[in-house]
Amino acid sequence: MNVLVINAGSSSLKYQLLNPDTQEVLAKGLCERIGIDGKFTYKAPGKDTIDAADVAMPTHSEAIQTVLNALVDSKNGVIASMKEIDAVGHRVVHGGESFASSVRIDDKVMAAIEACIPLAPLHNPANITGIKACETVMGKDVPQVAVFDTAFHQTMPSKAFTYALPYEYYENDKVRRYGFHGTSHKYVAGRAAAMLGKPAESLKLISCHLGNGSSITAIDGGKSVDTSMGFTPLAGLPMGTRSGDLDAGILEYLMNKYNMNITEMVSVLNKKSGVLGVSGVSSDFRDLESAAKEGNDRAQLAIDAFEYGVKKLIGCYAAAMGGVDAIIFTAGVGENSAAMRLRMTSGLEFMGVKVDAEKNDCRGKEIDVSAEGATVRTLVIPTNEELMIAMDTAAIVNG
Ligand code: ADP
Repeated sequence: MNVLVINAGSSSLKYQLLNPDTQEVLAKGLCERIGIDGKFTYKAPGKDTIDAADVAMPTHSEAIQTVLNALVDSKNGVIASMKEIDAVGHRVVHGGESFASSVRIDDKVMAAIEACIPLAPLHNPANITGIKACETVMGKDVPQVAVFDTAFHQTMPSKAFTYALPYEYYENDKVRRYGFHGTSHKYVAGRAAAMLGKPAESLKLISCHLGNGSSITAIDGGKSVDTSMGFTPLAGLPMGTRSGDLDAGILEYLMNKYNMNITEMVSVLNKKSGVLGVSGVSSDFRDLESAAKEGNDRAQLAIDAFEYGVKKLIGCYAAAMGGVDAIIFTAGVGENSAAMRLRMTSGLEFMGVKVDAEKNDCRGKEIDVSAEGATVRTLVIPTNEELMIAMDTAAIVNG
């Protein structure tokens, strides 16, 4: 079967047409600057690549239509007609407490996703626009499935998701830890179980999704039991430009001192902080590593603080689960930076983690990089959120 995976942003739309059974990606690309001057890219193996500017896309509906036209195009298309698209899987950022798994979209589900807008005011409206555009262009008969970033973490116990605030803020205002990157953590946890040849139910895993945005999840018996992102994706580790956890008292101090309002303060925390803020160099770890090599102390400090944060959380989650069988590294940094993986795991020998430097000297492939004698495995697993969305979509549509 073929699943069209859609990740809709406010002015962009990423798409991938793939077969979840064979895992073959038939085509993928991006619509950008929707409502502005429309940019469209399309890539399919063995076909001409499209990279076009000034494509008329006043709304997401025209963007979806542009994608469909490319997919069925007689020269560069990959399917004969739209009938060969069996289902659409949508990435939806926030499912609140309403969704603990992926779900087929109907009017009731749409209303529940809309009810989560206050929790993700930038993302959920864009996701909803993407869903409505697909329905408009493809009709009601093509099944659509919502796959939530938050759903995998709904298994967290209340002691892990409760903030020590007056309880009414949870009861009345839904303020709690939700966690994000759930689709990625779920995918790599499944792959880890396959690599280790053991049922997920028998494993304690720590999944480190380290990219531009980063989060770490404790997965016990296949279920998320704690995760580092919180009510929003601003929490946890220092990230490319996001601060991660900090003392909330800092906000009042800086806002008073620099006469900032809360919007300006939060913008600093989201856009000017993290490793960019500390280094003053870049949010990209490759730039930081080069700058550090050239003797830039603040670039080195940013890397050190990030790696220290990762190591600390690994220890934290091992304690939370009462042990760990494997640590997984995924996403941009986790999949690609051998040097950072080595440093983030060094010093963890006391708990049975031991990485083989030679095996670890690789990028972007699924591999167990543990050294002989390690009692905790260290795994590198490239994430594949699109495939996970397609697999969930297929499972739901096939009942
Ligand atoms: P996103 O969170 O936007 O999906 P990715 O998972 O693609 O991000 O990760 C992007 C980040 O991965 C980049 O900002 C870069 O810092 C990092 N990265 C990619 N390749 C390498 C590498 N070879 N070494 C170190 N960092 C890398």
